[in-house]
Amino acid sequence: MTPLTLMWFRRDLRLHDNAAFYHALRRAQRENGRCIPFFCFDREILDRLEDRDDRRVKFIWQSVREMETVLEKLGSRLCVRHGRAGEVLPALIRELKSKGLNGVYANHDYEPGPLERDRRIAAVCAGLGVDFFTSKDHVVFEKEEVLTRAGTPQRVYTPYKKAWYEKLSGDPVFFLKAYPTLEKFADVLAPARRVPVSDPHATLGEIGFGDSDLRLEGGTDAARKMLGDFLGRIDAYGQMRNWPARKGVSYLSVHLRFGTLSIREIFRAALGCKTEGARKWADELVWREFYNAILHHHPQTVDRAFRPEFESVVWDDPDADAGVAARWEAWCAGKTGYPIVDAAMRQLNQTGYMHNRLRMIAASFLTKDLHIHWKRGERYFARKLLDYDLSQNVGGWQWSASTGADGQPYFRIFNPVSQAETWDPE
Ligand code: FAD
Repeated sequence: MTPLTLMWFRRDLRLHDNAAFYHALRRAQRENGRCIPFFCFDREILDRLEDRDDRRVKFIWQSVREMETVLEKLGSRLCVRHGRAGEVLPALIRELKSKGLNGVYANHDYEPGPLERDRRIAAVCAGLGVDFFTSKDHVVFEKEEVLTRAGTPQRVYTPYKKAWYEKLSGDPVFFLKAYPTLEKFADVLAPARRVPVSDPHATLGEIGFGDSDLRLEGGTDAARKMLGDFLGRIDAYGQMRNWPARKGVSYLSVHLRFGTLSIREIFRAALGCKTEGARKWADELVWREFYNAILHHHPQTVDRAFRPEFESVVWDDPDADAGVAARWEAWCAGKTGYPIVDAAMRQLNQTGYMHNRLRMIAASFLTKDLHIHWKRGERYFARKLLDYDLSQNVGGWQWSASTGADGQPYFRIFNPVSQAETWDPE
């Protein structure tokens, strides 16, 4: 029987420079076996989405279709299933076990729900005598890799950043190396006929969603074009990044969220530029790693203030007061009467993107002017943001509400009028 490995793609929707895929292919090659690539449209996640035309599903679907096209050209196939990953995976693993499966490979997830799911899958694998291997891929440094000198988790961004760069400088080539995949191991892919059949997913309708007005494209090709465009502007990032109406930022966050680009490739590109603007951009990517580590060390902050003393803040409750409810609804709809707040919320509602300065202004307005709990705003953003990521969103909201790790001081309030005068007078 030919030994098999199964590569389970999740938030890493790319075939190149992918740590788990590399390990799955390499093991298959070592054992003279084959690797089966697999993706699950996970109903545990999809069923919870309130909007049936959620733009993120289209982005994922497009990215998966692109991966399928590439694999088919190589004579292989992506096995795609639609169901609850917690049920689909064990069934698939059992089916493949009798055909030679000896290892399931995936990249680390960091959110409490998916971590629990992975523990259950690991237990199923252990019961069947199949290895379950997960790899770091979504960030350069994770978990315990960047700590204080005393070995404790960092709580403040600036020393975290310093320690992050120190760690990187220890061996930048190693930490930012690309993991070779198809360029080296294409012949190890399972031939199409050996890949289990897929569930229907030729249209979004087949997985229960409508076509949305997604204004950018999923997939690695589109991501690379966006990165190329941004690299032509990266030197000006420092001066341009705060102007919401100018093309100063990269707009790559959704691609980072779903892993259509590799974070190592992005850091290589940024740090290779050696300009002030590029370094500033890399510093922002380190914020991403900081919030990822905060969630790992402080998972309770998903619902509770990072700084416990702020748990006693009394917020105005839209469920208990019609006036507060009206203000909440006005904020959601972009009808507060403050032009920059309203433009921000309408951009979010209409496109799924919001510029970072606008996220800070809108979040400050909700928490500090309307006195509504940051968690409500966080949940609203979670519904709408294309790049929604639990660690980043909670981090950004708690920073804005001054309840978070390294948050701005509580008495600092973004004035929505002067912010508009400074950053978007027109
Ligand atoms: P660029 O300016 O081009 O930055 C490049 C990358 O660096 C981003 O894609 C992102 O990965 C990272 N980055 C930039 N700024 C920040 C930041 N302030 N904090 C952490 N990482 C950063 N980002 C998300 O990816 N998902 C979220 O759910 C999210 N929610 C947020 C909520 C609030 C209230 C706030 C204030 C910020 C939030 N951010 C979130 C961070 C930031 O606003 C976005 O990452 C950024 O606007 C994405 O646009 P860009 O890719 O063009 O950014």
